[in-house]
Order: sequence, then structure tokens, then C-alpha cells
Amino acid sequence: MKYLSFNEYCRERFGCKVYKLSLDVGFTCPNRDGTLATGGCTFCAGGSGGRFCASGCDIKAQLATAKQLVKAKGAGKYIAYFQAYSGTYAPVSRLEEIYRSAIESEDIVALAVATRPDCLCDETLALLERLNRQKPVIVELGLQTANEQSAKAFHRCYPNSTYLAAVKALKARGIHTVTHLIFGLPDESEADMLASVKFACAAGTDGVKFHMLNILEGSLLAESYRREPFELMSREAYAALVAEAVSLLPPGTVVHRLTGDGDKRILIAPEWVKDKKRTLNLIQSYIAQA
Ligand code: SF4
Repeated sequence: MKYLSFNEYCRERFGCKVYKLSLDVGFTCPNRDGTLATGGCTFCAGGSGGRFCASGCDIKAQLATAKQLVKAKGAGKYIAYFQAYSGTYAPVSRLEEIYRSAIESEDIVALAVATRPDCLCDETLALLERLNRQKPVIVELGLQTANEQSAKAFHRCYPNSTYLAAVKALKARGIHTVTHLIFGLPDESEADMLASVKFACAAGTDGVKFHMLNILEGSLLAESYRREPFELMSREAYAALVAEAVSLLPPGTVVHRLTGDGDKRILIAPEWVKDKKRTLNLIQSYIAQA
């Protein structure tokens, strides 16, 4: 079965290998700072959110360091990537300053921002639209599941309708929209997980990112998992499900990620996610058989 990987998409769009450079300016999230809630999504381990850099923060230095880290992999261009927390959760004037600083350099070919769909007000959308005319903008939305009951259980704190409205608004502005989905949430069946994939596709997502549920130290889920451990998906079950999910994607949907990069230092379970290469190989073998 053929699918469009993020690497292939980048080669087609930018004509070369493209590396993502992760930037952290201390964004937080309304699900953590008390605006909606304080505990965050139950699987979220927290971390650096809330330490907003002062004006003129070291984005250039962060880019330079990140470039050094990927330099050994070979020549290419870069995407400035705001991955941590909700990358649009700040006053628009501040966002403009941060984003413009991040994409200024010629070798930065795009801006990628991961955020919550309820952190996209009209002014922020207008800013992303303006920037998208300058350099392509990718917005990643953390849907995780389309099962409203599961979403409630992990404290997502927004309904599916908010996600649908965000996808519509982003696509109306020509912004490449990506949906994050987590497989293995407590009490979800494989049918539920595939239903989430179909839901995101029907909404019109341009890309998907698949993740296995990780139990991370510092998360609310870690506490409940210790109190009452529950069964997590095996590598085999996850790989087979991702392959099936990929088969459901409309042609042209970009697969940004087949499995996540959990933080090994704080990973409690499942152990198998530590060997990402083995998981990827297994997923690819299932995809090849499909
Ligand atoms: S997963 Fe995202 S939305 Fe949920 S608490 Fe963490 S940063 Fe906020």
C-alpha cells in the first residue's frame, strides 16, 4: 500500500530534505494554567510551560543549536517548529514577533505550530494566514480521539465541534492542517480508534500524526496507572492498527508520524516504545502487506 510520508511531501514541496527544528519559548496551555483547568490532559507530563521568554528571546540561538544537532544528517532546509504545549496561546502581537523571528532566515522554509483547536482566535488565524503567504504554515491540532467520552475522561476540555471549526477555519485560509491521534487510550476499542481516523479525514485534515499512549512520569495518568494498572496495547497490535489506519486515509493525506518519540527519561510504560526503529519496521511490514 502506498502512502505519502512527510519526507516525501517535503521533497515534493521544497525540493530537498527538510528537518524540523524544535523551539521552546515557554508557551503554556489553557488546560494547565487554570483558564480551563490546572491538571492538563491526563497523559500530559507538563514541563517547561509558562516560562515565557522576554521580548527578543533567544530564538536565533535555539535555531543555531538545533541546526547543529541535525547537521550530521546531511544538507537540507528547515522548518521552525513550536511543538511544546499550545503554540498559539499568547497575545497575537507576541506570536507575530516570535513567528517572524523564527522564519526570518532563508533556510527556514516553513513554520509549524502545534496547538489546541480552542487556541485559534480570529486574530491568530489572520496572522497565520498572512505568514502563510510568506512561507508555508503547518498547524497541528491535538484531537487525540473523536470519542467524546474518552476526551472527557482524559480532560481534553473541548468538544469535537471545536476541532471541526478549527480545521474549517485553517483550511479556508489555505493552511496545512495536521491532526494528532493517540491509540490505546483507556477503554477505547480498535473500532473507536479507527473511527477517530475517519472523523479527522472527514473533517478534511491534510495530515495525521499517530501516537501510542505513553504513561509518563508526572502525568495524572501515571498516578492512576500505578494505583490501578491497565493493559496497554502491544507493539504488534499498535503496528497493525496504524497500518489499517493508513489504509483509510484519502490519497494525498500526509503521514507526518507513524509512531511518537516519547521522552524515555520519564517513560513508565509501555517499554516497547523505546525501540522506535523496531516499531517503525513492524508498521512498515504491515503496510507493505496491506
Ligand atoms: S496535551 Fe496539550 S492540551 Fe493537553 S494539557 Fe498538555 S499541552 Fe495542554
